[in-house]
Amino acid sequence: MTTSISFADLGLADSLLRAIAETGYTAPTPIQAQAIPLVLKGGDLLAAAQTGTGKTAGFTLPILHLLQARKPAARKPGAPRCLILTPTRELTAQVAESVQTYGKHTRLSSMVMFGGVNINPQIAALKKPVDILVATPGRLLDHCGQKTVDLSAVEILVLDEADRMLDMGFIRDIRKILALLPKQRQNLLFSATFSDEIRALAHGVLNNPGEVSVTPRNTATELVTQTVHLVEQHHKRDLISHIIRESGWHQVLVFTRTKHGANRLAEKLVKDGLTAAAIHGNKSQSARTRALSGFKDGSVTVLVATDIAARGLDIDQLPQVVNFELPNVPEDYVHRIGRTGRAGATGAAVSLVDSSEIKLLRDIERLIKKTIERKPVEGWTPPATSAAAFERQERDEDNRQPRGHRNGRSGERRARPAAPPARAAAGPKPGLARPAGEARHGVREGERPASGERPARAESPRQAPRRAESGQRRGAPRAALLSK
Ligand code: AMP
Repeated sequence: MTTSISFADLGLADSLLRAIAETGYTAPTPIQAQAIPLVLKGGDLLAAAQTGTGKTAGFTLPILHLLQARKPAARKPGAPRCLILTPTRELTAQVAESVQTYGKHTRLSSMVMFGGVNINPQIAALKKPVDILVATPGRLLDHCGQKTVDLSAVEILVLDEADRMLDMGFIRDIRKILALLPKQRQNLLFSATFSDEIRALAHGVLNNPGEVSVTPRNTATELVTQTVHLVEQHHKRDLISHIIRESGWHQVLVFTRTKHGANRLAEKLVKDGLTAAAIHGNKSQSARTRALSGFKDGSVTVLVATDIAARGLDIDQLPQVVNFELPNVPEDYVHRIGRTGRAGATGAAVSLVDSSEIKLLRDIERLIKKTIERKPVEGWTPPATSAAAFERQERDEDNRQPRGHRNGRSGERRARPAAPPARAAAGPKPGLARPAGEARHGVREGERPASGERPARAESPRQAPRRAESGQRRGAPRAALLSK
């Protein structure tokens, strides 16, 4: 995933080249090779890139270079020279970590700011000069309201994962923040997709931007072995527990659609003797940090996460991703499986699909232009009735899709999927070990910004259908937290 040019070719300062060498990077990634020279020239930038492409170094390295080169006459306390806005606490922490890693041989200072934690240490930190502030929009506005931060000295603004910020309803907060910034500044906008909304935002914020786009790593799906197991919803928890225990996976990221579903699954896996933790917006910051570091250091085998919580998690070379439920938006599937197969490593993505998700599966297959292999799970025998239900759903989908879109390949009908085998006479009965009450279909919650962050004020078109499908009302009570 790297390029043939070197970091030195990009004209970065020696202090940065030293830090880069210490991280072990041998060459810039494509987004870095394209973005760094543009940013160093001082122009605005619109970049299509997502987590895993090396985008963070793509903007932090040239920013560190520029800030180091242009020493301000006087650095005011609490008045950052660069503001990096990100949608989630995790991403904020990760970007700040990158700033520190790459900037360790410079004299530049940085600070991280997000909600859900005591504001006082942040106020104390703002009493000193800060070069780079990495913040979520909600908590930043709290500081602006309390006049504990001064945005009048911002020379460079970064909107990181701008698409996700819009998705999470941060547009009004972003506009308020923009109004507090000096007119004369450099603007960098990173987004996984260029939707009309992003284009409109870019149009309002960027000035004659250079555009760079890297092929999302997850279009390189060849690196990821994808498999579907057809299984009804109420057997999924037992099945995934079985798969993880039997396969001996040591690090698996499991996606659920809902926070409640994430909790229930993690609880079940812990009950079955696995080390598992859930991570989502209702968790306290310390619980999330603990879960993530346990997952990274190998003491937690299974991390169960919602899309928003998982977005931006910087975990290298994740070997295994499981979709406990398919996402409602096909692109989210691509983001999810893109967490494996990073930096040229191969990965595997397994999806548990129930008969109500066949349509979602077909939408995904159309997007990735590939049929995902349906495979029975060895040693697991779902009831014969499920096989019939899946056959029916697949047939209905075949009939529903216009000619030319079948199976994502023009004019071709999809081969009949390997239906789950009928229950073997002597095989274990599925669901027998299921605790009472688990037969219900999972409650689907929409994701909301983490506690302590501002609640989403505007509802994106993507969120509305999710909520409609789940019957969830806005402001519904939060799911119980899993203690882990
Ligand atoms: P990002 O897309 O910024 O989240 O980065 C994804 C991962 O790629 C992070 O773990 C980085 O440490 C790593 N990375 C960034 N740049 C490079 C590079 N030039 N060579 C190898 N790995 C890199």
